[in-house]
Amino acid sequence: MQPDPFAGPSRIRLFVPWDQAGAPAEITLLAGGAGAEIPGLIDAASARAIGWRDWIGRRVEAWLRSRGGGSGRRGEESARIAPYGQAILDRSAVLLRERGIEIRLDADLPARGRRILGRAALALLADTPERLVAGCLAPDRLDAKGAAAHAATVEDHAALRDELARRGWLAFVADGSCLARRAGNDDRPLPAEGSVPFESPPSLRRELRLPHAGLVRGLAIEPGVTLLCGGGFHGKSTLLRALAAGVGPHVAGDGRERVAVRDDAVVVRAEDGRAVHEADLRPFLHDLPFGRAASPFSTSNASGSTSQAAAIIESIEGGSRLLLFDEDTSATNFMIRDRWMDRLLAPHQEPITPYLDRARHLLEEAGVSSVLVIGGSGEYFRVADRVLVLDTYRPFDRTAEARAIAASDDGHGRRAAGPAGPLLAAALDPARRSLPRLPRGEPRIRALDARRLLVGTTPLELPAAEALRDPAQGRFLAQVLAARDREQTGAASGTLEKGPAGLLDWYLAAWRAGRLDRFGPEPRGDLAAVRGHEVLAAVNRLRTDELPSTEGRPEAGSSDT
Ligand code: ADP
Ligand code: MG
Repeated sequence: MQPDPFAGPSRIRLFVPWDQAGAPAEITLLAGGAGAEIPGLIDAASARAIGWRDWIGRRVEAWLRSRGGGSGRRGEESARIAPYGQAILDRSAVLLRERGIEIRLDADLPARGRRILGRAALALLADTPERLVAGCLAPDRLDAKGAAAHAATVEDHAALRDELARRGWLAFVADGSCLARRAGNDDRPLPAEGSVPFESPPSLRRELRLPHAGLVRGLAIEPGVTLLCGGGFHGKSTLLRALAAGVGPHVAGDGRERVAVRDDAVVVRAEDGRAVHEADLRPFLHDLPFGRAASPFSTSNASGSTSQAAAIIESIEGGSRLLLFDEDTSATNFMIRDRWMDRLLAPHQEPITPYLDRARHLLEEAGVSSVLVIGGSGEYFRVADRVLVLDTYRPFDRTAEARAIAASDDGHGRRAAGPAGPLLAAALDPARRSLPRLPRGEPRIRALDARRLLVGTTPLELPAAEALRDPAQGRFLAQVLAARDREQTGAASGTLEKGPAGLLDWYLAAWRAGRLDRFGPEPRGDLAAVRGHEVLAAVNRLRTDELPSTEGRPEAGSSDT
């Protein structure tokens, strides 16, 4: 309950017994299921239940909306459910319990000035459940067919990801998919008139069978280094973003229902200004100004290139074996250095080994694949296994020509980078480093949206975390970070987390112990699961009390000199 009208909302939990809900008998078989085993990833075993939960939540949302939900105006519903978007997520708003459906709503209790109006609040609490059940959950109201179709979309997506894993593919985009969005701030699909459906190049077209959709054809991206080239405005970034969003299912009609990517895919980008904590950047950095070490490398203010190097090392530490890059958000000097620049700068003047020189090392020595949007530098032809050219939103396989171009040119004295093996092995040593903790004083952590948190008054931004799709995930992430710090503070020395692997172990064990309700003080309906990759990304970007404040000039006494 909110203590006064201006506090956060009151939380309502509503239990609808199975015999009062319109769910078919089979759905009760899913009841009481624990949900997905791996946080933030909807597996085949939990797909149907998550589909049903998502469907019911969307019906409740639509019904509350049609009744002016959340407006608090007289005669209208003042309760609301955390809003749903294009992505289907494992959310806490609707749960299937042994004896019925649990629905979680928020409400600002009716008030005048600083006083809650008791009678009106009572009416809200007493009447909402009955109206809601009659309005959208009663047997004549719940569209069981629609729900089953919705669940089928989720099951098909889980099956598609299983199929990727079985065949060893990185990603799949079905022919006919519509990847373009309505606007930069509108995740709904571009209306069909303006949208060019996806069509895979025949040489890379593969077929697979899904439990509900049946035979599906589309582009399969295999391990290796894949380039998405093409002129500006031809749909490269749109394709990459759709791949990144493919860790989870989308609602029917979204256009990305049959786009999937490996479970561990992450986007890597430049995030200048971010904090970096004890990363080993030696695979990418050497000879920093003022003799500063590339390991352990800490800063409160990374450059574009160092932030991108850190993101790569941290992502691999977290288990990712597929990195997605977009030239739009990459540091140019991190991605390439051409032969003329090589001639101008002596080796000690340029501390960066560009990704161009490391992409194959990462693949061959650490099994890390990359998909890169590259429109500006053909130097990448030398390291690519596959080159797709997007032309008016259609991909063409131009690998052979790109290879021929690369072969016709000896590189004209570009300096070769040294081997990466030992550097990579050292950088990825799991025992190597500790992770940052929250600043002292147990600051409150709040989510501003899916990818922006506030730690006390300090922003914590995750601009690359494309897998975070919904503010509900930001809220859950905030809870996880706070729980981690509480539990680490109280932990016996033997149970303290050890580095990135320790953090991920803790998160997985904690998730299995209580799922979406495990990390906060009370059950609430406005949370959605996130992967371990995003938890680790957030922890890696925490600003602690000890970080040096400048990158270039080590300060006296700072730990990185
Ligand atoms: P690039 O990264 O190649 O410069 P973008 O992916 O940013 O191009 O796409 C440019 C524009 O084209 C965007 O407004 C995007 O929404 C739109 N677009 C992308 N793919 C399609 C498509 N298949 N059909 C219609 N419009 C598309
Ligand atoms: Mg682009």
